[in-house]
Amino acid sequence: MRTQTCTSSAFSHLHWKDTSAMSSLTTSIPATEPGAGSSGSAPYPFDYEGWKRISDSGAFRILADSALSSSHRIRDTAARMRELGYAGEDPGLLFAVATHLASTITSILRFGSPELKSALVPDLLSGHFVGAHAITETGAGSDVSSMQATATVDEASGKVRVNGRKVFITNAPIASHVVVYARTYRGGNDEGISAYVIDTTCPGVAVTANHITASLPHSPIGELELSDVTIPQSWRLGAEGAGLQVLDFVMKREIIYAFSADLGRAQKRIEDSVAFANSRRQFNSLLAEFQSVSFAIADMYVRHFAGTAMINEILSKIENNQDITKEVAAAKILISDANLQTAIEATHLRGAKGVQADSTSVQDVLDALAGPIYSGTNRIQKTRIAAMLGLLTDG
Ligand SMILES: Cc1cc2nc3c(=O)[nH]c(=O)nc-3n(C[C@H](O)[C@H](O)[C@H](O)COP(=O)(O)OP(=O)(O)OC[C@H]3O[C@@H](n4cnc5c(N)ncnc54)[C@H](O)[C@@H]3O)c2cc1C
Repeated sequence: MRTQTCTSSAFSHLHWKDTSAMSSLTTSIPATEPGAGSSGSAPYPFDYEGWKRISDSGAFRILADSALSSSHRIRDTAARMRELGYAGEDPGLLFAVATHLASTITSILRFGSPELKSALVPDLLSGHFVGAHAITETGAGSDVSSMQATATVDEASGKVRVNGRKVFITNAPIASHVVVYARTYRGGNDEGISAYVIDTTCPGVAVTANHITASLPHSPIGELELSDVTIPQSWRLGAEGAGLQVLDFVMKREIIYAFSADLGRAQKRIEDSVAFANSRRQFNSLLAEFQSVSFAIADMYVRHFAGTAMINEILSKIENNQDITKEVAAAKILISDANLQTAIEATHLRGAKGVQADSTSVQDVLDALAGPIYSGTNRIQKTRIAAMLGLLTDG
């Protein structure tokens, strides 16, 4: 059983024994496949084989490994993401993975009811269910509190009716479950923003895979239209009105996982740059002999080392139950900016080859462009740091 209210069967395309859905490395699925209410016609590329490879490696299960303390689960998951980034897994796929880990597995394990945990967690850990979270709306990007999506509690039935439209939702086209953030109304009163788990096969859920972004093109992203979607109250995460606390907890983990993957990728980029500089000759010299080139690669290392040290410091703080708010914000800014700078530098290092149409360097730059935007833009992260430092940001 997938939910109390929506009884459709699990997605056949996420059952690994269904080899017809796994016939090629990048399987194109129609945008209509994920949920009963889905719409749209463009084929959407998603690397199901990569998803299966990562699922089968046990990467999702670490977060529920009873042999590990909660802080070590986070540490080991971050380390796995870094390995995957280093191994050259597609950054879009890895962002889908980071979103899955943070949006549903983390939030349900931390804030979900026992019923919700037993209904969803096993299949989320195996990768058969795919998670997403829906915060952003057309008029509410950075300004999350201005969201218009509503969750109306019906006291008599104990059910919640969710309405709204969410945009730029990673994994939406392939998600089985989305954590939707909406403003709760009870008896006509605004109770604040809450987080609800919604099964994408529920009546009233429509998914459109219409945002194929230049950055992370293999990360499935789409819109979610919710029309009187009815769910039990027990599918709320955390207390009513505590949605922003849930979001804060989850986003910190998303940043740790997503940007650990970027660190792995950056490490590989440095090694590739060293190899290129040590082999390409101009002016009868190796590029490595030109100090402006070797210093540029040394700078890549400096940024990478700083980002790695920041993540390690954050992981230590989690282990010691210390607040990580400004540290996560600072790490997100540094790693995403560094990722973009080093991707550009690595492209320039290759000269004309770097910008050939089929060059992976160009896509590397495009992928890195989104880092300063998602998981809370870097400017918003700076406003958080400023507030944490005690600056009187509100006058
Ligand atoms: C690849 C990708 C994946 C995403 N995945 C998801 C997802 O899974 N779920 C989801 O809900 N959303 C997702 N998003 C949306 C993302 O969270 C938003 O894009 C982000 O919050 C910014 O909102 P916006 O795009 O509306 O920009 P805006 O909020 O309009 O901001 C525009 C610019 O103004 C700046 N700005 C805004 N307010 C301030 C301020 N107070 N002070 C200083 N500067 C400010 C911003 O930093 C930015 O530079 C994703 C976005 C991308 C690019």
